[in-house]
Amino acid sequence: MSSIRINGQLYWKTRTPTKNGHIDPLPARKGSMFVDNPSSAQRRRDRRLFERHFDARNVLLGPDVLIVHDRKPWRIVEVRELPLDLWGEEWDTAFADACAYWDRYPNGDRPTKENWRDRPVMLVMRPEGQPTAEPSHFRTRASRHFDVLPEHYAVCRACGELPPCQHEINENDIAAAVNYTEELMAIQPGCCHGCTEPITSRMQAVRFPGPNLWRPDLGENSAVFHARQDCADAVTRYRSQWEAKGHDERQPMLPMEDAGDDA
Ligand SMILES: [Zn+2]
Ligand SMILES: [Zn+2]
Repeated sequence: MSSIRINGQLYWKTRTPTKNGHIDPLPARKGSMFVDNPSSAQRRRDRRLFERHFDARNVLLGPDVLIVHDRKPWRIVEVRELPLDLWGEEWDTAFADACAYWDRYPNGDRPTKENWRDRPVMLVMRPEGQPTAEPSHFRTRASRHFDVLPEHYAVCRACGELPPCQHEINENDIAAAVNYTEELMAIQPGCCHGCTEPITSRMQAVRFPGPNLWRPDLGENSAVFHARQDCADAVTRYRSQWEAKGHDERQPMLPMEDAGDDA
C-alpha cells in the first residue's frame, strides 16, 4: 500500500516494497499456528512454510540496514541501548507507569528497564549516499517498527525523494481538485449535487436555502440533494459549509415542487 489521504491528512508510505524492521526480536511466533508440537505432518509443514514467509518479511535492525526516516533513505550505523540511568524523566515516568499497569494486569514477565518493550534506544545512522557524513542520533522506543528498503530502490529523478515525492503528491492533489470541480460543473439545475443525477417528484430531497455554495451560478435556493444514503456524504459536506456560513434554517426532506420526469 502506498500513501493515502484520509480526511485531508496524508499518511505517507513509500511505493517501494519494504520489509518490516524491528529492534527487538519479534514475539510473533505465537498464536494458533504455534502450539508447541503440531500433531500432524501437515501442521508441521504449514508451520515451516509460515516461518519462512515470516522471516522473509521481517528484518532485525542493525548496522548497514537501510530504513526510511522522514521520507528519506538512511543507513544504520548502530542501534545503541541507552545507559539505564540516562533515560531522563519522561522515559522514567513512562516506565514507572508500565510497571504500575503490570501490577494491576499482570501479563508475562514484569517489565525491567533492560527488557521493557518500549525502552528508549538510540538509532545512529547516516543519510544514504553520504558515507563520510557525521552520523545522526535519533532516540526512539524499542517497540517501534521501521520500513526497511531493499538495496535497489527508486527515488524521484527531479528531487531525490522516495516516491511519492512531495511534488507528485501536490500534482495528484491538484488533479483531484480539478476532477472534483469538473464533476461539480456538470450538475444540471435541479439535479442532485451529490451524485449529479436527476431528482424525480417521487424522491425525497434535501434543499438548502440561500446562495448555492458549490454552484453559485445556479442561483438562490438551488442546492439540492437526494435524501438517500448514497448522497448523504455530500449532504453532510454541504451542510457543514452551509452552517459555517451562519445558516441554520435548514429545510430538510422537502418534496420537490417543480417535479421533473418520473424515473
Ligand atoms: Zn520529486
Ligand atoms: Zn444524489
